[in-house]
Amino acid sequence: MKVVVLGAGIIGVSTAWHLLERGHEVTVVDRQLDAALETSFANAAQISVSYCEPWANRDAPLKALKWMFRNDAPLLFRPRVPFGEGWQQWRWGLQFLAQCNDAAFERNVQQLVALGAYSHAALKDVVQATGIDYHRLERGIAHYYTEQKSFDTAGDAAALMRKYGVARRVVSTAELLKIEPAFSQFADRIVGGTYTASDESGDARVFTQSLARRCAERGVEFLYNHDVLRLEKTGNAIESVAIRARGTSASSIKDAQLTHLKADAVVVACGSYSAPLLRSVGVDLPIYPGKGYSATFKLRKPELAPFVSTIDDEVKCAISRLGNELRVAGTIEVGGYDLSLDTPLAKARCRMLAQRIEQVLPGVCDTRLEEEGGQPNFWCGLRPATPTNIPYIGKTRVGRLWVNAGHGTLGWTHGAGSGKAMAELISGEAPSMAFGFYGYEHSRRQPGLSAA
Ligand SMILES: Cc1cc2nc3c(=O)[nH]c(=O)nc-3n(C[C@H](O)[C@H](O)[C@H](O)COP(=O)(O)OP(=O)(O)OC[C@H]3O[C@@H](n4cnc5c(N)ncnc54)[C@H](O)[C@@H]3O)c2cc1C
Repeated sequence: MKVVVLGAGIIGVSTAWHLLERGHEVTVVDRQLDAALETSFANAAQISVSYCEPWANRDAPLKALKWMFRNDAPLLFRPRVPFGEGWQQWRWGLQFLAQCNDAAFERNVQQLVALGAYSHAALKDVVQATGIDYHRLERGIAHYYTEQKSFDTAGDAAALMRKYGVARRVVSTAELLKIEPAFSQFADRIVGGTYTASDESGDARVFTQSLARRCAERGVEFLYNHDVLRLEKTGNAIESVAIRARGTSASSIKDAQLTHLKADAVVVACGSYSAPLLRSVGVDLPIYPGKGYSATFKLRKPELAPFVSTIDDEVKCAISRLGNELRVAGTIEVGGYDLSLDTPLAKARCRMLAQRIEQVLPGVCDTRLEEEGGQPNFWCGLRPATPTNIPYIGKTRVGRLWVNAGHGTLGWTHGAGSGKAMAELISGEAPSMAFGFYGYEHSRRQPGLSAA
């Protein structure tokens, strides 16, 4: 089959790889000059099969309300006027609220763990087949708490994960420091933690770009620097995808400058931008951008830096070592497609990440801000968030149109498996996991479904 994949983030590239493995002819289109230059660029680097809880839980609404006016809040909902694009935010918010109960939470966790386990196995297979080196650390993921009240809930959360087959365990501060001694300078603040040895970390950008190169070497065509302008439909099926090389000015769009790609299957893997593209052909999915930030610092004292990727419960950020650098990332801002780093809000969030690293690992990295003479490497990306945190992987009700998007906080963790599952579905195979694929098991509950 000829398949066109739209988007060369971790999801699109993994999809291309697995399609190639099944003998399909693949073209990937992306507006950037390389793979993984948008949300898959500088994330928290965690392959967190275990730490996969969705943001929607019974405490989230009250917390979000309390945090609404705090610039450094871990979860920030900044309401827009409820018209036009703003309406999508409100609708998403209401659907998120509907997930903030224990029954939905557990249902969502079950699916996220299933996809996570499947994906972790798929990632290991790809690494074995390709030998890609991406600062991988198979040292598990730890989670430390600085507030007793929060730590008191850690046992129940770990038990829920164990129920679905993930070996997360509660550890004392002493045990935590044995697992990762780098946090000893912060030990007096830590009240306890949890740890899952089977999780890991590594650089999503390096992995994705390397995999894209392997794909290209084996015949996948990459059309970088091309905008996807529209999906062209005839009847109820995709006829072609209109793309245009970047740099053509908007006033001079002529049909002659467009390329119309035809294929047996078109996979939309455009991250947060999948939603408007799909909506243009009547497939209405609640995928909305959840802006997050990261800071990457050069290590000053590598011997004192952690190897175990870690979650800081209080600030809700993740800390991962990537070679001679340390990455700290986190926070979610539900406020639209804004990617600026220079607003007071963005600056406050970046500053908060730098300050937290200095507090937890004093002197280990150069965390100085620009005004202090430092060269901090701040970044932000738009997580393609769904109210459940579960992605849409499957066939839409529009002929030849497939979707692989909405991976929210877990796109790196779920990338390899989502790509494999997508390729299996397109090839008529049934992925071996208990997951509600779009257009299949969920056919009555979700809008825009295949009748299959
Ligand atoms: C701060 C932060 C920390 C995170 N930490 C983790 C973590 O530790 N572990 C984890 O598992 N996940 C993490 N994530 C989530 C993860 O990074 C995302 O879920 C994942 O990168 C999404 O991948 P994607 O391929 O769907 O989207 P993207 O990487 O955004 O790829 C989509 C691609 O589509 C292209 N595109 C879009 N529209 C068009 C168009 N019209 N024309 C042409 N091309 C187009 C873009 O150029 C882009 O390359 C984090 C995210 C953030 C923001």
